Amino acid sequence: MGLCLWVRMGERACALPGGAAAGVVAGRAVYHCAMNPDPVQHASRLRIVLVGTQHPGNIGSAARALKTMGLARLVLVAPEKAPNAESSALAAGADDVLEAAVTYPDLAAAVADCGLVLGCTARSRRVQLEELLPREAAARAVAEAVGGAEVALVFGRERTGLENAELQLCHAAVHIPANPGYSSLNLAAAVQVLAYELRLALLEATVPTAPAEPRDPPASHEHMEGLFGHLAETLEQIDFHKGRAPESAMRKLRRLFLRARLDQREVRLLHGILADAQRMAMLAGRR
Ligand code: SAH
Repeated sequence: MGLCLWVRMGERACALPGGAAAGVVAGRAVYHCAMNPDPVQHASRLRIVLVGTQHPGNIGSAARALKTMGLARLVLVAPEKAPNAESSALAAGADDVLEAAVTYPDLAAAVADCGLVLGCTARSRRVQLEELLPREAAARAVAEAVGGAEVALVFGRERTGLENAELQLCHAAVHIPANPGYSSLNLAAAVQVLAYELRLALLEATVPTAPAEPRDPPASHEHMEGLFGHLAETLEQIDFHKGRAPESAMRKLRRLFLRARLDQREVRLLHGILADAQRMAMLAGRR
């Protein structure tokens, strides 16, 4: 068992003998374990995803924003231009984060293994998704990461933000409550705000707490898409839509099931129910 050194500090974070560090976050004392001097060990499960970035300079600035906050996983989805010399210049020493950035062709591929996907949007309340403040989003993201899930925070294009279809892949939207008459931050500035909130939440997560109830691993994006496919098929087979277009019902059902934060066992249970409904529909059709 590791020896933990608990120290309550004054205003400023400081280093302690033995590699421990402590500080105050949001008015609360933060305790770091001497045997685990890395206060942000869960940061490795957090990724920042930039979709369709138009200016390579912003990719560099985002890398810098991540590194200052102890984050390292930058993911690019179909950037208009690959990172270049301007990106490196603006990364200002965060070249390691920039060089380690992974590129995917689309958002679904970039978040396929994620248990929680949060989409950052400059346009408040324009999407049919639960909307979180950055602080709430960071608390949820870190809680999931501590529980073992992969988590993505997704940022859109400089000109047009995230498309609706991309926001549909997210469990919730995040909006920085900026000036309502001028709410669109520069992409890297928005990344910095969220990275800072993640940092605070990660530091808070180092406060020792009772172990959580054991739970099945959270359902990934891929598991959820499999469930939605099966659900859509079943609704057709039981004639749920009765001639109406299925899109509206599917949008509402996606929102409902994404909000429920299902684990893998729960997804299997729902597949079982759907398979039975399909079987009954087939039997009814034969009669
Ligand atoms: N003109 C675009 C804004 C793009 S800014 C639009 O109207 O959507 C680029 C990205 O930065 C956005 O897609 C979003 O991910 C992030 N961003 C900018 N301002 C934000 C805010 N107030 N809250 C949350 N994210 C924001």
